[in-house]
Amino acid sequence: MAQIGNFLRSRIWTLTAGLVLAGVAVLALGQAGLWSLIAFALACALVIRFMVPPPLPQPALPRGGGRIAELPPMTRLLLEQLPLPVMLLDVDQRVFFVNEPMRGLLGPGALRSHVSTLFRNPAVLEVLGHTARSGQPASVPFTLPVPIERHFQAYSATISTAPPVTLLLLHDLTAIRRSEQARADFVANASHELRTPLAAVTGFIDTLRGHAKNDAEARDQFLEIMSVEAARMRRLIDDLLSLARIELNEHVPPQGRIVLEHVVREAAAALTPLAEADDIEVTVQGGAGLPEVMGDRDELVQLFQNLIHNAIKYGRQQGHVWITLGQAVDEQVFVTIRDDGEGIPAGAIPRLTERFYRVDVKRSREKGGTGLGLAIVKHIVSRHQGRLTIESQPGGGATFTVSLPIIPAENAAKSPDSLAVTELL
Ligand code: ADP
Repeated sequence: MAQIGNFLRSRIWTLTAGLVLAGVAVLALGQAGLWSLIAFALACALVIRFMVPPPLPQPALPRGGGRIAELPPMTRLLLEQLPLPVMLLDVDQRVFFVNEPMRGLLGPGALRSHVSTLFRNPAVLEVLGHTARSGQPASVPFTLPVPIERHFQAYSATISTAPPVTLLLLHDLTAIRRSEQARADFVANASHELRTPLAAVTGFIDTLRGHAKNDAEARDQFLEIMSVEAARMRRLIDDLLSLARIELNEHVPPQGRIVLEHVVREAAAALTPLAEADDIEVTVQGGAGLPEVMGDRDELVQLFQNLIHNAIKYGRQQGHVWITLGQAVDEQVFVTIRDDGEGIPAGAIPRLTERFYRVDVKRSREKGGTGLGLAIVKHIVSRHQGRLTIESQPGGGATFTVSLPIIPAENAAKSPDSLAVTELL
């Protein structure tokens, strides 16, 4: 009943006009004329119903005198849930809707502002103007310089013509730009690091071919330097390959069950000759009976070799390197490597795991460093879902701690057989 009532109310003017017309027709044409008129009206209605295409549906934005009153709930919900910053502009280019990501970007108070007060960038205003004038979508890249530089691609589109509504959507390209920049910097740094020893080797080859041709003493000396530079290039290439391999597998959790004490003792034993050369004593304590960790054996050996090697390289001559294993309260096993060298300035600590970052480039080179050791450590720790902490007091040595999660109890209880059965099922 209510539906019929609504229908009649919505068609009230059409019905009234029809009745008035019928009255006029009866008065003017008589009853036969009225029937002809009804037949003609029916024919017209049929032609309009089936021959004329229906109008294109407009987005269901409620209007108030040609302006937007408010967004329909579903549209609002959809735009609010979008993870990209979005705003809607009315015919005067004033903001009547912003979603949460756009609020996060512009701060509060964007609503009802003119778009030109929010985006000072002429290119963004130009694409919005273009879309408002032509109804055509457009897009442009732009940069927000403050508070931190961010790069975006702005997309504008008309989503309603009556009343006019322009949508502005932003795609954040900052992470992509940063990773492109990091890649370019990495290639530039790697080439530079390789070019220096290569230039030394080619220079000595020319000298040996030229004026040092018959100088036996100079020849031996130059060949020695060339061998050192060649070894440096080899170490750099080895580290670059390690880094690439570890990065490739970083998202794949390691599958081996590792007794950490064995791995740490193996790494320390491999470096004993280097420690002895500087008269440095290396001691390993703790570790017996610690729970196993999930890990990649080769990668963990490399991780601890890099850290112990650094402790020897940057430690004190005739000094000491202490390696301690233990279990923390939070289901983690830790390994601490401490030296009694010069330590690291506080400002440098957050940058140590950056590729090619060194506190003292000359010292690192003299010690045969590539500047990649701690970057490799960081990636191995991250693949093992562990944690790396670095503490140092200038003049008081440095302490590097690696924490790795122990294998959870239900995994530890499984025998290899029960694992295989589970996989088959
Ligand atoms: P490198 O090949 O130069 O040793 P790493 O990535 O292993 O490269 O280390 C980066 C820098 O961190 C080193 O050049 C050094 O300046 C600093 N560093 C690393 N370990 C120590 C340490 N135990 N004591 C003092 N400085 C260290």
